[in-house]
Formats: sequence, C-alpha cells, structure tokens
Amino acid sequence: MEDPSVRFMHSAPADGIYSCTRGGSALVLSIPHSGRRVPGPIAARMTAAARELPDTDWRVDELHDFALDLGATVVRANYNRYVVDLNRPPDGAPLYPGQAATGLCPATRFDGGAVYSPGREPDDAEIERRRMQFWQPYHDRLEAELERVCGQHGKAVLYDCHSIAPVVPRLFAGRLPALNLGTNRGRSCARALQERVVAVLAGSGYEFAVNGRFIGGFITRRYGQPGRDLHALQMEIAQDTYMAGAAPETFSRSRAARLRSSLRQILEVVLEWADSLQSANSNIRGVT
Ligand SMILES: [Zn+2]
Repeated sequence: MEDPSVRFMHSAPADGIYSCTRGGSALVLSIPHSGRRVPGPIAARMTAAARELPDTDWRVDELHDFALDLGATVVRANYNRYVVDLNRPPDGAPLYPGQAATGLCPATRFDGGAVYSPGREPDDAEIERRRMQFWQPYHDRLEAELERVCGQHGKAVLYDCHSIAPVVPRLFAGRLPALNLGTNRGRSCARALQERVVAVLAGSGYEFAVNGRFIGGFITRRYGQPGRDLHALQMEIAQDTYMAGAAPETFSRSRAARLRSSLRQILEVVLEWADSLQSANSNIRGVT
C-alpha cells in the first residue's frame, strides 16, 4: 500500500509529453522550454544547426530543483520548443506585435537561421496536429494543477521559468539584465506580490528588469487572474548567470549555486506572501 506520508506524487503521461511533480504548497512552477526531445521524423527535416536546439532554456529544470523542497508543484515540458512553443497562444499570434517573433512551431531560430531544410517546414495542418498532440496536454495539465491548488489553498501563484542567451541581436538590443521579471505590466499578479519579488531582486546583487523586454508570455498572460487570487509571474534568466558558454555542458556549478540562492529567496518570498494573503483574507472574513 502506498505510504500516505509520501510528499510528492510523480506522474507523467504514457507518452511523456510533460512531467508533473505535485507538492503541497500554493506555488506552481511551469518550465515550458527546457525539454530536448524532438520526434525523429521532425528532426530529420531540421537543419544541422537547429538539431543542436540552440534556443532551449538550458537546464532550467535542474536550476529549480530546490523548488520541490518548498512544496511546489512542477510541470515541465519534455519536448523542445521547436516541436511546439508552449508559451505562445494556440493561434500563433505574435506576443510582441511589431517585433521579430517566433510562432507556435518556429521556422526561424533566434539567430535568424532556418529550423528546417528548405521546403520542409510544417504546414498549417501539421501545426494543428502538433498543437493537439504537444501543446494541449501541457496546458490541460497546468490548468488542472492550478485549479487543484486554488481549490486547496484558495489561491495559487504560478511562476513560469525561462532562460535565454544574454545577447540575441534579432530579439533585443544590447545585453539582457541577469534577471527579468514579467507580470504583463502589472496585470498578471497582485501589486504587493510584484513589490516583494522586486525587493529580493534589488538585494540580489544581480542586474534586473521588471516588465522590460520580457513582460511575460502566453502562460503568464493566460493564467494570471489576480481577481480570483491566481497570480502569475515570469522570470527570464540570462544564461550567463549559470552557464559559462552557449552549450548545456557549460553549466557552471559555482554560478548556479549563487543564482539558486537568489531564486530560492524569490520563491520563499512568494510563498510568505501567499500565506499572509490567507491570514489577511481570514481577518477580513472575521471582521465582517
Ligand atoms: Zn523560455
């Protein structure tokens, strides 16, 4: 018989499109871009440069492994963003109109090169199949976990984890700050929560931006509904804060250790804030 004291429940669908580890707190982490799987028939049509998966949020899942200790529920993708981008709307509409964009099934890499050999890009019917097969299950599960946490705690905080190379001329000018917090310009979470996280960033010693180049993608914008105590934040991390180069093997234990310490503080503050929210609401109920 299963031990009821087991803290975490691990589960993954049979086809492994995503993995989910359940925790008992009000915090839900989404890690949509660290997956490296690409189905063989798709990889066969990709360029050699694209098969290196250069636009992956390298090892962001490992970077946040401590979140399990905080009772976080973690939903992470196993397939690469070149298969389907989970942080884009299902109709593929651009997140940042007027700027260089990558769609639901990107055909262009961040560096401007091609993902597919000439003429081998997915057509509309294939994009729709990939949306059904890879995009929908991730979002169904993320939504279900958020509803479960909301049902249990009366609130949930979704923290969407990302990383990107610090210099990507096609996507942004100059060098990206180390830590980039996005709250859809204040619309995806309570102002007080954003202020708490910004205070940690300000004391972290890292350069940071709030709603700068990255204001939060589809996941942050879709699920952040502060009016019903579902708060969403996106953190875009510049990869040189935990890597010494562009390849995943350059993961730096020393850099990651320092970064993890700040990330842990951020998530601890998020949880403290969520707990205080509960007592504030109880007080209000007590008064009325
Ligand atoms: Zn990402």
